[in-house]
Formats: sequence, structure tokens, C-alpha cells
Amino acid sequence: MVEAAYKAANLNIRYINTEVFPDALEAAVHGAKAMNWLGFNLSAPHKVAVIPMLDGLGESASIMGAVNCVVNRDGKLIGENTDGKGFLTAFSQVLNPEGKTICIFGAGGAARAIAIELALVKAKKIIVVNRNIERGEDLVDTIKTRTSAQAEFVQWTPNFVIPGDVAAIVNATTIGMEQFEGKKLDLDFDSIRTDLVVSDVIVNPPNTHLLQEAAKRGAVTIDGVGMLVQQGVIGIKYWTGIDADQSAMRSALEAVNI
Ligand code: NDP
Repeated sequence: MVEAAYKAANLNIRYINTEVFPDALEAAVHGAKAMNWLGFNLSAPHKVAVIPMLDGLGESASIMGAVNCVVNRDGKLIGENTDGKGFLTAFSQVLNPEGKTICIFGAGGAARAIAIELALVKAKKIIVVNRNIERGEDLVDTIKTRTSAQAEFVQWTPNFVIPGDVAAIVNATTIGMEQFEGKKLDLDFDSIRTDLVVSDVIVNPPNTHLLQEAAKRGAVTIDGVGMLVQQGVIGIKYWTGIDADQSAMRSALEAVNI
């Protein structure tokens, strides 16, 4: 997807995937700096571990305590988090989050990134619904102490009823992924209103069980592919300054069956 954007812009840049084991992360980061790379992305389990190895952090990455995109700015490696920003770009095309109450399922890396970005653009309140109490409360504490948004933790109970005052819900759990056993969120799907925006982070498959149930009830749906493309667009902008060709990126994703 990223190389398709470089090709469309006639840029002679490569985006290569490498597997780095945790005990080699520091050497890999030094290597990227020594070779004057424009930057790199990181995935689990490196998103938190990389922080002490960097020269600084962007605002939201510093609040989240997680980095998925490192940018070489004048020889300094700065950690950013583009997951939540990518989500926000895709989400905002459908609903302006300012002043809205939004319910997020999950409290892992993706949920943290999304919740903080929504709070930073002045969502009124974030309701975090999670199975693990400690993780859910920790995210709510972070929102309350580091942003101006209100936040509430609700423990996930079976056949969960979506609160009536929310404008949107976001599935930011791993439920729905192809390789994941449980594909259905434990929700009362009849609590999905027609005026609710229902968003999912899952990309494989993009048309998740949740989005199918939401569409059946007439709700507006947003799949995870937009977030994936937009986080790439933001990373490419950070690294190269160009506005990437999004259709070239989507075509490259479709070609690998996402
Ligand atoms: P984490 O492992 O950090 O978090 C997973 C979350 O899912 C936790 O909150 C966990 O709850 C919850 N969860 C898992 N299983 C269940 C279950 N059976 N019932 C209830 N809750 C459950 O993962 P990430 O946040 O890093 O990733 C989440 C998803 O987001 C992944 O599918 C990933 O691919 C996707 N993603 C998509 C992106 C995109 O661009 N579209 C970008 C980044 C991520 P608990 O705390 O209770 O264990």
C-alpha cells in the first residue's frame, strides 16, 4: 500500500517489512538512524518498548504512551501515533466528533489511540466498555487527566445494551478478525439505532458481523480499511511531505484481498 503511493508519486523510496525480535529493537532503531531512514512503522510488541529509544514524541503519542510511526526530523527520531489519527480522518468524513458522546469497545492499543484522538478533537464524552477492568479504568484515567473530555468506564456485561445517548460506537477489540475464534461482539444488536454511526477497526474481513448487524438496522457503518489507508497517508506525509494517492493505496490493498 505504501509503495503503491510512492510509485504513483514517482518517488524512488522503498517501504520494506522486516521482523525485529524484542531484544534487537534498540539495535534496529540505531540502525535506522545511522542509515538516515525517513522513518518506520512499528507494530506489537514494539509500540511501547521503542519510546525510550527515541529523541521525542508527538502530542498524542506522548499521551497514549504508544508509538506506531517514527519520523526522522532533522536527524532526530520522533515517535508519532497514526492509528488514532487515521481512524479520526476516516470517521470525520461521516460524523464530526466534536461535542458527541462516543462508546468504544476495547481498551488495548487501538482503543487507546482512537479514544485519545477523539478526546483531543473535543468529543464531549468517551465511554470505554471493556472486559478487563484495570485496562478500561486506566484508559479512562488517561482521558480524564490528559484531555478535556469526560470519560466513563463500563464493564462489559453479556448482551450489552448500547447506551441511548451515544452518537457512535467503535469496535476496537480484536473480535471479528479472520483468525480469531469469536467473531461476534456480545451486544444486544437491537439496541443499534438507525441514527447511530457504527465503526469497526477490523480490516480482515472488513465487513464484520457487527457492521452487517448495524447495516441491517439502517445505521451508518465505517469499516477498518479507511483507518488503515488514512494512517498510511499520514505516515507518508510525515516522511515525505507528499499527499499520497489514496486510490492507488486502496487498489494495492484490494490486490492482496483485504
Ligand atoms: P490489543 O491486544 O491491544 O487489545 C485487544 C482488545 O480486545 C482488548 O481491549 C481486549 O479486552 C479486547 N478483546 C479481545 N478479545 C475479547 C473478547 N473475547 N471479548 C471482549 N473483549 C475482547 O489489540 P490492538 O488494540 O492492538 O488491536 C485491536 C484490533 O485493531 C486488531 O484487530 C487490529 O488488527 C486492529 N487495528 C486496526 C487498524 C486499522 O488501521 N484498521 C490499526 C490498528 C489496529 P481485554 O482488555 O479485556 O483483554
